[in-house]
Amino acid sequence: MIFSVDVEDWPQSVLNRSNPLSDRVYANTMQVLDILAANKTKATFFTLANVAEKFPALIHRIIKEGHEVASHGMSHGNIDAMTASEVHQEIEQSVKILEDIGGVKVIGYRAPNFSINEDVFDYFCEALATQGLRYDSSLFSIPVWKYKITKKYSLDTFTKFGLDEHYLTHINVAGKKLPFFGGGYFRLFPYALTKYFRDQYDKDAVFYMHPYEVDTGELAEIKKLYKNIPKKWLITQFVKRASVAPKLERLLQDFEFTSFKENYYPENSAAITSNSLSQSTQQPRIIIDQPQAA
Ligand SMILES: [Zn+2]
Repeated sequence: MIFSVDVEDWPQSVLNRSNPLSDRVYANTMQVLDILAANKTKATFFTLANVAEKFPALIHRIIKEGHEVASHGMSHGNIDAMTASEVHQEIEQSVKILEDIGGVKVIGYRAPNFSINEDVFDYFCEALATQGLRYDSSLFSIPVWKYKITKKYSLDTFTKFGLDEHYLTHINVAGKKLPFFGGGYFRLFPYALTKYFRDQYDKDAVFYMHPYEVDTGELAEIKKLYKNIPKKWLITQFVKRASVAPKLERLLQDFEFTSFKENYYPENSAAITSNSLSQSTQQPRIIIDQPQAA
């Protein structure tokens, strides 16, 4: 199974994209890395370029500890709100920033708010393929009120561009698709229910989470800093955060997880060197020394 983390800062990525990044994203991601290290588990970190630029030590630690760095875009703008050329630019820039800081080829992408749909598939997939990416993990199985996306699609466009789509896990409950394995579902459900649903699932599941979900002190600080926080978010986004870290411990003890890269693309694990670049069709962009210690 795959363990994935969308590295972003709640006030900046969810509340308002013009907000500055808080330092909490650093501490929260460190806490998630500690939990993974204690349980000897590797993961894929879909990281925003703005977080990587402000806290390069996070990228260095993620890579040093054998995890995968993948792209979550520049600053959490929705893909389906961009033009084709903006999508190309967004993906190219975010990949370059992560590769420059981490020194490892980026091969995966997840759209902020899972914001892709059939209308953007063509230029979205083209942009990923142009950057030499191997896979996407942006498809979420149901329209959720937070995301406001209707999803009807086939994966033919991904195949056409040589990309794998590792969509988020769901099960069918009473005729409806339920994406139970991560985010608010994991936070709100009792662990036994998550485990029960997981046990019904017969494929390679993809777990996802955000670093802020382990942050129990954030709500008090946010209320001081920002007025007019939508009530729906006060109700849904902060409830049961204290349960997440202990539930993660149980999840990691009960199941085996790894990163997308280790599971599907182990040949892409080496650091970027002039040698590996010469074998690809991409123009060499960066030559990297060893990542610094975090
Ligand atoms: Zn996100």
